[in-house]
Amino acid sequence: MKHGNLAFFIPHHGCPHQCSFCNQCTITGHLHAPSPQEVDQAVQQALCHSQERCLEIAFFGGSFTAVDPEYQDALLTVAQRYVQDGRVQGIRISTRPDAISTGILERLKKHGVTAIELGAQSMSDAVLSRNQRGHTAAQVQNAAQMIRAMGFSLGLQMMVGLDCDTPLQTFDTAQKLAELHPDTMRIYPTIVLRGTPLEQRFLAGEYQPMELSEAVELCACLLDVFEAHHIPVIRLGLHDSPQLHHDRLAGPWHPAFRELCDSHRFLLCVLDFFQNQNFAAGQYWIRVPAAWLSRAVGQKRANVAALAALGYQVRFVPDNRADCLVHTASWTWRGPCGILIEMGSVL
Ligand code: SF4
Repeated sequence: MKHGNLAFFIPHHGCPHQCSFCNQCTITGHLHAPSPQEVDQAVQQALCHSQERCLEIAFFGGSFTAVDPEYQDALLTVAQRYVQDGRVQGIRISTRPDAISTGILERLKKHGVTAIELGAQSMSDAVLSRNQRGHTAAQVQNAAQMIRAMGFSLGLQMMVGLDCDTPLQTFDTAQKLAELHPDTMRIYPTIVLRGTPLEQRFLAGEYQPMELSEAVELCACLLDVFEAHHIPVIRLGLHDSPQLHHDRLAGPWHPAFRELCDSHRFLLCVLDFFQNQNFAAGQYWIRVPAAWLSRAVGQKRANVAALAALGYQVRFVPDNRADCLVHTASWTWRGPCGILIEMGSVL
């Protein structure tokens, strides 16, 4: 069954912090905090159009558990009715690690919340402090353990390219977060948004965002880390929105960021295979599942060009029966996401 979120954004409500990168209204693309009645109407409408989907009601955007408790209760009471009558399968919220306690979790449980996403961002205290997060790595760890112990599904979010972060530290963050056994991960490259402390540091020459290619290479490695731990990365990169276009000053953003990362992973996987097998320069074909063809070829044929620069003239073909008859594979192996890669040389 297809899974979907009925997402409601709670912009900057309840957050007493000013993280270096956050202009939350830009991130959510919404300024308005929905009333319980609006949530109710929106859920009813959505259910009319998607009755066969597995749906969750999600309250994202702010630090939900730091919002006025009466507002939380009012929203959750509406959402819980739909869970109780079976029309919605769960309630998901996002919040900060230091806005989690046993009492808060008990209240969420009572209201039928099923999944909690924590904005961890980094597991380096120095990086957290420099980016004015207002919590420590130990608080991420404690909150994650409490959430799991009380039977919620755990989601973790991390950032790449934060002020004072390094690729090695980011990799370490990914390893530490993977060891907390989240059910899902989201990864966000740091973007310089107008109206944030990071904008001031950027304009003063004190902060330099990652180049797109650097962010792609690093995030491709992170996808490998989480895949090795069987943890799905359900989001990579900020959602596109008119507000984001308006407020983005600098930083590694691309509308198909995930595809760029998958494409880079594919290239590394093929190069690794070529080098391990000591293949000579020459002409080859590579067959991949049709759904992976554009990622295999790369944006603007980037992977084809990168292989050609090393002397490998590669023609990519989609996996279908006709091609199987024409091309008999000499080598097969598993690539990113476990896809089957088949290859042969052109005689
Ligand atoms: S805690 Fe979340 S909402 Fe608050 S400033 Fe930081 S990123 Fe923004």
